[in-house]
Amino acid sequence: MAKTTHIAVISIPAFSHQASIIEFCKRLIDLHHHIHVTCIVPTIDTPLPTTLTLLKSLPSNIHHTFLPPINKQDLPQEAPSAVQIQLAVSQSMPSLRIALESLLSTTLLHALIVDPFANEALEIAKEFNLLSYIYFPPSAMTLSLFLHLPVLHQQVSCEYKDHKQAIQIPGCVPIQGQDLPQHLQDRSSLAYKLILDRCKRLSLANGFLVNSFTKIEEDSQRALEKHNNKVYLIGPVIQTGPSEESKGLECVRWLENQRPKSVLYVSFGSGGTLSQQQLNELAFGLELSGEKFLWVLKAPSASSDGAYVGAYNDDPLQFLPHGFLERTKGNSFVVTSWAPQAQILSHISTGGFLTHCGWNSALESIVLGVPMIAWPLFAEQKMNAILLSEGLKVALRPKFNENGIVEREEIAKVIKGVMFGEEGNEIRARIEKLKDAAADAFKEDGSSIVALHQFVTQMENFM
Ligand code: UDP
Repeated sequence: MAKTTHIAVISIPAFSHQASIIEFCKRLIDLHHHIHVTCIVPTIDTPLPTTLTLLKSLPSNIHHTFLPPINKQDLPQEAPSAVQIQLAVSQSMPSLRIALESLLSTTLLHALIVDPFANEALEIAKEFNLLSYIYFPPSAMTLSLFLHLPVLHQQVSCEYKDHKQAIQIPGCVPIQGQDLPQHLQDRSSLAYKLILDRCKRLSLANGFLVNSFTKIEEDSQRALEKHNNKVYLIGPVIQTGPSEESKGLECVRWLENQRPKSVLYVSFGSGGTLSQQQLNELAFGLELSGEKFLWVLKAPSASSDGAYVGAYNDDPLQFLPHGFLERTKGNSFVVTSWAPQAQILSHISTGGFLTHCGWNSALESIVLGVPMIAWPLFAEQKMNAILLSEGLKVALRPKFNENGIVEREEIAKVIKGVMFGEEGNEIRARIEKLKDAAADAFKEDGSSIVALHQFVTQMENFM
């Protein structure tokens, strides 16, 4: 019998990162039964309900432990969610060290696998003489940017959005400065400093496990392979398959009664939020399109990631335009706050996805073959939107007006464009091909399975 290989995984208090790294661990132990995982999770206040549900269903060779919570009140209240999360993770490092010491006292630990936003743990790994890897939930293009940022920081002296030429990230289409991630847009901000520090630390890792696959990011992969650290494209890692729990949900039952590919699914991820004005325009745009839609509605917020850290207490329905639900009755299903996205995207009635382009959502749409409307909000989502719409050509992108609002007529136009019409059909054909390519990546000799085996071999050869 093969000896047990024990790995510790460090995540961050953000559902989409936790879900991605845990799904990765499940696939890893499915392929290599002798691997055991301890997942260490920093928390802010109490774990999110979605996190608890996620951790309930772990197989017996994945354990989890929560670090003592960081008090949300002690974090800068005005700071963006990404900053709050990174500060909470930094404050959790002393507890992480204690948790690792305790684990090492009973277990021969082989490696740490760390979220990029918890990468102070790479330094702890060095102290403890452990191998360390980054599990990178976003795209290979974003990893290429992160590895390049320390150079870009030296090369460019102005704000990136004021840089005259497009920014050349190795292996990627040139990107306008304004399309770089939100937290790089103000170079004097704490958000920028935190990201830059994390980017500088990345090279401490022995390798990178990236949630992407060769077919959609070949050029970025090639550029990444020029780095000293090993890069493994092991995706698309997504939550799939109809879960028994979601079958009885009302929104899924509503989908059962719709025609194939007739419903547009609308969601801005686990924490994305719109302003009240934009929420109104979206409601009127959906109504104007006359198409059927299933909308995961969150209460509006001045900040685009307003529901990312912790629950939002207002009832979102009160923010809809007057009479909206009555007028769209029969055509609409509005879910407040959370819906079983993978189940909805895999349902035969779903024909399109209006998405904020979070990388998990983008991958889920590709794997399940659903054409997209790309409506990026924050983080690196504009870069994802460019890849989806201009690179892979599987998404339409609505135009924003000079006040940064997508107007109702524009919304109705892109909805019709993606749900039917020539462009929609072409997108559907292209995404069907990517769906097949994603499935191929997980066949026995598929690129992602080969990469996973290579990772395990490299890690175990170091032992
Ligand atoms: N998700 C879900 N139901 C929701 C909202 C989100 O299941 O109502 C899941 C979605 O399927 C995806 C993740 O949460 O796996 C969101 O990740 P993504 O990277 O798209 O965006 P983020 O939440 O990080 O902004």
